Amino acid sequence: SADPAAVSHELLARREHSLAEVQEHYYAAPPQIERGWREHLVATDGRSYLDMVNNVAALGHGDVEMADAVAGQLRRFNSNSRFHYRAVVEFSQALTATLPEPLDTVFLVNSGSEAVDLGLRIAMAATGRRDVWAVAEAYHGWTYASDAVSTSIADNPNALDSRPDWVHVLDTPNHFRGRHRDGDATAYAGEAVARIDALAAGGTLPAGFIAEPVYGNAGGMALPEGYLAAVYAAVRRHGGLAIADEVQVGYGRLGHWFWGFEQQGVVPDVVTVAKAMGNGHPLGAVITSKAVADRYRTQGYFFSSAGGSPVSSVVGSVVLDRIRGGLQANAREVGDHLHARLHALADRHEVVGAVHGFGLYAGVELVTDRTTRAPATARTARLCDRLLDLGVLMQPTGDGLNILKVKPPLVLTRESADFFVDALDHALSTGS
Ligand code: PMP
Repeated sequence: SADPAAVSHELLARREHSLAEVQEHYYAAPPQIERGWREHLVATDGRSYLDMVNNVAALGHGDVEMADAVAGQLRRFNSNSRFHYRAVVEFSQALTATLPEPLDTVFLVNSGSEAVDLGLRIAMAATGRRDVWAVAEAYHGWTYASDAVSTSIADNPNALDSRPDWVHVLDTPNHFRGRHRDGDATAYAGEAVARIDALAAGGTLPAGFIAEPVYGNAGGMALPEGYLAAVYAAVRRHGGLAIADEVQVGYGRLGHWFWGFEQQGVVPDVVTVAKAMGNGHPLGAVITSKAVADRYRTQGYFFSSAGGSPVSSVVGSVVLDRIRGGLQANAREVGDHLHARLHALADRHEVVGAVHGFGLYAGVELVTDRTTRAPATARTARLCDRLLDLGVLMQPTGDGLNILKVKPPLVLTRESADFFVDALDHALSTGS
């Protein structure tokens, strides 16, 4: 791809010198981003890019209301949640108000990895067990426990061979791929239940089961109908807890539902959330029932220095108000338009094998052949580079790195959605 004028090679060299090599950056020649506004990022050469990949900046970039609210709270008071102040109570109550009974008790942390780690530890504490079921193709975080249940071979080629012995991995419930792709996708649930039952019959009872309720890491695809209902029931029958990792897909992005688990018609025992919740400020949460939360006492107390701080709580309240107050509806309206246009694209370009997702979470899955559905990995990488040239930020996901992960700020306008699809159409039509 072209080398945009805004690439600062000197700064990149300094970055590579001081950051660990595993902390990768997007693109071989990334533009140096200086500022952002709504769904746009502006590079140092003045060129602007449409940010179609940012599921953290839900309100968009450079949000003035957020900046003012944070500055005001920072000037007044910021400390830890052992002090008594209004913001943490109001935010926690607003958060639990989005959830069905009995999910009424909140732990505030700083990231998705922390939320998943704590969610797993809560399940272990509540059950007095340690074995956990996860699904293949998943990413849940970088801390010890959240990494243990991360199974994606795109992120770690050795993932499936190197999980600790307390992690048990179910097949990816991927209706587009896998053994049941041309048959009955609900068969994944039956097989999962059989494996959970078999392990339990052998005396290994589950502490819990963790999965994204809409499969974000697999491209934002819906799980097969009834999958979570069946697997949650099996895990609960054996006394384990159902954990929904809503870090990517929850919090309004799906448009039609605030939480991903609503799409499957289930209620989990533990919900983990982060990313959009803080709009880029470090903020995450675990929400569970009082009864389950109280069992964590067996582990001592819970304290996080910055989790639920006055500033974090103010950030949380601003974001939640705005998502509830219109951005979820925007995700539905602009998202439905975006999906309709992406489906029309699939009719004209053989390489588009499927369009997954809901609202402002879409996965455009590229295949070299519609019959074999072989992942078009190299073409997906090329396409992302071409889209950068055309002014659109886009990245691949999925175990085959062949799915464009479309997850823009929730303020995306219909015009920006059109700009993206037109750029994609142009790139596909001109050989990228
Ligand atoms: N769970 C899911 C589903 C995620 O997508 C991510 C981040 N990509 C995490 C957990 C970890 O979140 P964080 O990066 O905030 O630690």
